[in-house]
This record gives sequence, structure tokens and C-alpha cells, in this order.
Amino acid sequence: MTIVAFIGLGNMGGPMAANLVKAGHDVRGFDLAPLLREEAAKAGVAARASAAEAIADADVIVTMLPAGRHVLAVWSEIAPKAKTGALLIDSSTIDVESARAAHALAGKAGLASVDAPVSGGVGGAKGGTLTFMCGGADAAFAAARPLLEAMGRKIVHCGGAGAGQAAKICNNMILGATMIVTAEAFVLAEKLGLTHQALFDVASTSSGQSWSLTSYCPVPGPVPASPANNDYKPGFAAALMLKDLKLAQEAASSAGANTPLGAAAAQLYSLFSAAGHSGDDFSGIVNFLRGKA
Ligand code: NAD
Repeated sequence: MTIVAFIGLGNMGGPMAANLVKAGHDVRGFDLAPLLREEAAKAGVAARASAAEAIADADVIVTMLPAGRHVLAVWSEIAPKAKTGALLIDSSTIDVESARAAHALAGKAGLASVDAPVSGGVGGAKGGTLTFMCGGADAAFAAARPLLEAMGRKIVHCGGAGAGQAAKICNNMILGATMIVTAEAFVLAEKLGLTHQALFDVASTSSGQSWSLTSYCPVPGPVPASPANNDYKPGFAAALMLKDLKLAQEAASSAGANTPLGAAAAQLYSLFSAAGHSGDDFSGIVNFLRGKA
């Protein structure tokens, strides 16, 4: 049994902490929101009144927070107070620079650390089927792995500090751009008198195939489980897609990479969100492209 401190018990962190409890760990949790601490307590997490109280005696500390500034604020506070030999894991989706700065904070305090953002959404967090994309030293990754396995199905070591965040934003830039072009193809097909099913039957077994088409088809019908069949309820909200596309653009700009399609995707999701659809599933962009959103 490992003593785990879990900071950030929101939509993702709450169920992830609950899965650590189910795996037999002693989990102590903290969130700024008292209601979330109560919810977590119902799942067996020992709620604490502050991050400092939660991390006292913890062998492993996991953070699941909104953005880089929250992670750096929490890590600055807890790294100097953490037990000798403790391991710090951040599973939030944050910018690569902040992730590297967080590793540096841990290193300064003599602690091992891993950036381990996830894909799989709230469903994956509840079901313990998340994919973790990890960055950090080999020994830190090896120490983190058994714990991550209690919350996820696929655990990938992507490289050194920040490599997990880099993999996450590159993947989601592909996802955002392919979703838009897939939606554009359905809108064009409609204008050309081609049925959704006909385009799906051809493209799903041809070179136009992608996850956006075959697992998450943006029009109702061909893929029964896709949010298009459920009034575009998320799923994966457009606001979160926009967040990841902006992180990709920030990283591209500081690394000097040309990403014109990624930039266009960020712009389109920004317009879609500003039109009042930030809470819709990101595949709902098909309605926006038709001019109906
Ligand atoms: P959320 O807003 O539901 O949860 C974040 C929690 O952090 C909140 O409950 C907030 O009160 C808490 N918090 C903020 N500052 C804090 C502090 N200083 N100390 C303690 N608690 C603090 O967000 P979420 O949906 O759980 O997402 C968390 C992270 O996971 C984000 O970085 C997000 O981009 C990423 N993510 C989310 C999804 C998803 O589908 N929701 C999928 C993949 C990745």
C-alpha cells in the first residue's frame, strides 16, 4: 500500500483518486472546493484541509489541475515540504514550458517527477481506462508506472521532462485538424448530393480514414456511439479542444515549428466557442461549418 496525496479532485481528479482507493492505496485528497472534498470522501479518499496536510507522509503526490500556473503554484508550495524520496506526478494538461519548470522545482527539492497528461476524458477517468503520456527520467517513470496502471490502461514513456505534454498536444493538434476536415467533407458531400453513409462507407476503408471518422463520426448515423447521435453533448468539449490547440500553438511558436493547419484549427475552435458552443462536443463544429450553429 502506497500513501498517495491527490491535489485537484475535479471532473478528472475525483474519479482518478477513487480508482487509487479501489486499488488499495491510502489516498489523501485536497481541492479548493469543499464540495469536491466531500464527494471524494464518499469514494474513500481521506479529505484534508490543505495541500500541505494532504502531502505530509505521502510517498507519491499526484496533481490534476486546470493549467500551468496552478501546477507551478501547488508544486512550489509542496515540493519543499514533501517527504524525502517522494515522487511527484502531474497529470494536468499544461504547456510544455510550465511542465519543464515543474520538473525543475521537484529536482531542486531532490524529488523525482513525471509529467503524465491523459487522454480518455471523464469516461476514461471513471473506468480506469485512461492513456497516460509520460515525460521524465527512466527511474521516475518506472516508479510511477504501477500507480498509473491503477488509473489507466495504456502507459507510454515518451521521453524526458515535458515529453508527455509534448505528445499530448501534438496528438490533439492532429485530432482537431482531422475533425474539422472530416466535418468539411460531410458538408461538401451534402452539397454534392452524396449521402453521409456513402461517404462513410468509402472513406472509412480508404485513405481518408481517421479516428475522427471511424470512432467519432461528426454526423449522426454511421457510428452509433458518436456524440453526433446525442445532440453533440460531450464527449470532449470544444473548450478543452481549444485549450489544447492553443497550447500546441504556444509550443510551436516557442519551438519555431510551422503549423499552419494547427493554427487554422485553433482559430476555428475559437470562433465556434465564442459563438456559444464551448460546452458542445468538439465534433459539433460540423454544424458551425454548415452555418447552422
Ligand atoms: P476541473 O476544473 O473539473 O478540476 C480541476 C480542479 O482543480 C478543480 O476542482 C479546482 O477546484 C482544483 N484546483 C484548482 N487550483 C487548485 C489548488 N491550488 N489546490 C487544489 N485544487 C485546486 O478540471 P478537469 O476536467 O478535472 O481537468 C483537469 C485537467 O485535466 C485539466 O488540465 C484538463 O485540461 C485535463 N483533461 C481534462 C479532460 C476532460 O475531459 N475533462 C480530459 C483530458 C485532460
